[in-house]
This record gives sequence, C-alpha cells and structure tokens, in this order.
Amino acid sequence: MDYYSNQIRKLIDELSRLPGIGTKSAARLAFHLIHMPVPDVKRLAGTMVEARENVRYCKECCTLTDQDLCPICANADRDHKTIMVVENTRDLAAYEKTGKYEGVYHVLHGAISPMLGIGPGDIKLKELIARLEKEVDEVIVATNSSLEGETTAMYISKLIKPTGIKVSRIASGVPVGGDLEYIDEVTLLRALDGRTEL
Ligand code: ZN
Repeated sequence: MDYYSNQIRKLIDELSRLPGIGTKSAARLAFHLIHMPVPDVKRLAGTMVEARENVRYCKECCTLTDQDLCPICANADRDHKTIMVVENTRDLAAYEKTGKYEGVYHVLHGAISPMLGIGPGDIKLKELIARLEKEVDEVIVATNSSLEGETTAMYISKLIKPTGIKVSRIASGVPVGGDLEYIDEVTLLRALDGRTEL
C-alpha cells in the first residue's frame, strides 16, 4: 500500500484489525472518515473512547453496562428468582427484544471449549454460583446449541442440580450451531416455552 501516505495507511491498518473488516472495507471506511467534517470524526472517536472506558460488567448478572447494576437487574418488576443463562450480551438483547421474558439474566461471556482451551474458570460461572445463595426458583440455560453451548449447559446442570434448584434447557429448534442473536423472536419464544428440565 505504498501509494497511500503514512497516515492513511495507518488508519486503514487500524480499521482492518476490527472483526469482519477486510482491507477493502477498511480503505472504504478510512476514506469516508477522511471526508467527514472534523467535529463529526471527533465525536465518533470520543464516543468510542467513552464507551470503552465506562462500560463494565453488571455486578449482578455480568452483562455489559455503564452503571453498577444494569437496567434489568435494577428493575424491581422483573422476576429475580428466574435466571436465564446466556453466552453474551447480544443473546440477552435477542431475548429482551421479544418483550416476553420477565426474569433476569446471567451472561457468561463465552462457553466452555476444551478445543480452544476455554475452561469453566474462563467464563462467568463463579458469579452465577454466587447468585444461587439468594432465593432462586429456576435457572434456564439458554446457551447456543453448538458443541460448546451444549458442553456448558451440561456443566451448569451438574453444578446446580445438587442445590435442588430447578435447571432447565431451552428447547432445540434453535438451529444447531446457531447464534441466538440471529434467530427470530417467534423461534426464541418457542424455545423458551418448550424448555425441559435437565
Ligand atoms: Zn445485570
């Protein structure tokens, strides 16, 4: 890319490190940014830095939030005795979009994957177990139907069963290996309603 000046090349390099952005898209974005008014670029950069600095884990459910407690955990009208376990914040958003789930969530930030060397200690499982000290009626495991998601579901079930708390798994019907966030709301609700005890 010698035909680009240093600063343009640097910008393209940085942008192409983002997921899903190849060199071509990075160049297109870079030239778009260069043609934007300076105040707009500053606002965009500022928003990115602010989000990165202020977003943290909710101290209850571990979702990403800019408060101590996320809006769902802070909402007294939610059913705090039903916890749905999801792999990431985008999966939580997928269930929230249905508007039909009244419980709270627990976000693992990943799934157990022996192949990738991701063990139980690498995801937010300790935090889930700590929550079971409070009054909990049911833990709904809504990890993906991938091998990793199923492994994680089995692990959670083994961990929770001895406590006597009900553990259930969302129905399959969610396509195998499917990311929850790409599944339509009707399918998500069907999976939730058809959940079975583990
Ligand atoms: Zn929360």
